[in-house]
Amino acid sequence: MTQALLGQMMNSPLLISSLLSSAARHHSKLEIVSRRAEGDIHRYTVVDLQFRAKKLAQALERFHLHPGSRIGTMAWNGYRHLEIYYGVSGSGLVCHTINPRLFPEQIAYIIQHAEDEIIFFDQSFQALVEVLIPLCPNVKKWICLIDPALMQKSEKEIDNYESFIAHESGDYVWPTFDENWASSLCYTSGTTGNPKGALYSHRSTVLHSYASALPDSLSLSATDVILPVVPMFHVNAWGLPYSSLLVGAKLVLPGAKLDGPSIYELLESEKVTFSAAVPTIWAGLIQYIKSQNLSFSTFNRVVIGGSACPPAMMRTLQEYGVEVIHAWGMTELSPIGTVAKLKASDLSKNIHDQEIILQKQGRVIFGVDMRIVDGNLNELAQDGKAFGDLQVKGPWVIQQYFKANESALIDGWFPTGDVSNIDADGNMQITDRSKDVIKSGGEWISSIDLENVAVGHPSVMMAACISVAHPKWDERPLLVIEKKLDLDLSDEALKADILQFFVGKVAKWCIPDDVVFIDKIPLTATGKMQKLKLREQFKNHQLPSL
Ligand code: AMP
Repeated sequence: MTQALLGQMMNSPLLISSLLSSAARHHSKLEIVSRRAEGDIHRYTVVDLQFRAKKLAQALERFHLHPGSRIGTMAWNGYRHLEIYYGVSGSGLVCHTINPRLFPEQIAYIIQHAEDEIIFFDQSFQALVEVLIPLCPNVKKWICLIDPALMQKSEKEIDNYESFIAHESGDYVWPTFDENWASSLCYTSGTTGNPKGALYSHRSTVLHSYASALPDSLSLSATDVILPVVPMFHVNAWGLPYSSLLVGAKLVLPGAKLDGPSIYELLESEKVTFSAAVPTIWAGLIQYIKSQNLSFSTFNRVVIGGSACPPAMMRTLQEYGVEVIHAWGMTELSPIGTVAKLKASDLSKNIHDQEIILQKQGRVIFGVDMRIVDGNLNELAQDGKAFGDLQVKGPWVIQQYFKANESALIDGWFPTGDVSNIDADGNMQITDRSKDVIKSGGEWISSIDLENVAVGHPSVMMAACISVAHPKWDERPLLVIEKKLDLDLSDEALKADILQFFVGKVAKWCIPDDVVFIDKIPLTATGKMQKLKLREQFKNHQLPSL
């Protein structure tokens, strides 16, 4: 075979540091605003960010770490955390974001497994850190992200971030290396078994940033003001700390205060146009703006994912002038895989049909490929009806979990554990996590469909649908409801009303057999409903039909 003719373009590696250096050079006035643990609002420019990220890279150099050494973070969204993102990855080390909402034993397992050498943490996690220190003897330094004057006393040896970087000059050149080097690490918050690490590369992160900014993805631009409410410890805040610098958009980081009033205040005071979070966050914000009779002046787009966005929530936000972009992804996918957007051929459809498309989890963004398969790995039709196991592949999808001995792939595809259908236009709809599907008399009932209907009821705050064993049908759906506060109705009357609410909205045999009320639906560390726990709690629930 004759030798191929190579292109003659520059072979610049796709490095995370280039997102920062490019933004500092071409968007030098770009503001980064943070609500700090110190209690104030901090603001500086991307040039300041780069200066301090370089100081951090210099300070880390003194530790004689190796390329790829892991540096942990347990922190909310803030400018110091952003400096660690860039200073650590930019210098060839790996930024390991740890979810502080997990149990201490799980966190200790993750830190040991990742072999973190230094850990940076927000002061609000100091009590947790004091528990972790004896459990993680291999960590060489624990560094608190707070002004030195506000450091809390501790019997443990804890350093201060500002002091750590104080004496560095910032005169540092980002090193150039292979774009396939690891850049960051995030563990899945597995509800069963030990968490598993997804190890991202510079290349995968930069490609994900490009793709996620596209018009049919999150449609980010230099005119945006971006507020990532999704935490930087949850899949890199869905890539927004990278993609915002890629497009040159102002970044607003909300710190630890994620309640409705605090988020609303930032949306208004910083003129935010775009935000991102799981549905539970928006439920809190909607309740607040409704109760206070407020509106938004600049906020116009929000990406919702992590769990299915209920159509009722989409409609409410739209009434307030906010376009809801429903997206699907996972830790293993950096995270974005699909985004719900219309095609030209959808524009002539009526509003109802358009809404149905936008309520699905959406089309793949270029780079990701997906298919659905049956139990024998036969590919199923993309007709919007057939449903099966969703598999994906692409340059920002993991191939193997960190330190695993074998590939995570089946037949070259990553099995997501989600069950879905895909229509002829490529719109994917998740019907369930495979373990949450309700298998009734040989038919599958989508728990998400039933939850979406339930949260449309005016008295329902949150709804989880789980399966309960049934002697005739194997499993039947039970609806677990968290009510809105201050309702006059008795539980019995409300239950009857909710079940009646399903009539005509789903097939008769899919209507839940029973409704139970609980004070708070338990959430996982990433804000998803803990159905495993609910299934355990209600496994002996007596259905009325028995
Ligand atoms: P995580 O890795 O914690 O981000 O969880 C990924 C899982 O969250 C996916 O495999 C889905 O089960 C679920 N998920 C993410 N986005 C959505 C969505 N838009 N609708 C339904 N489920 C979702």
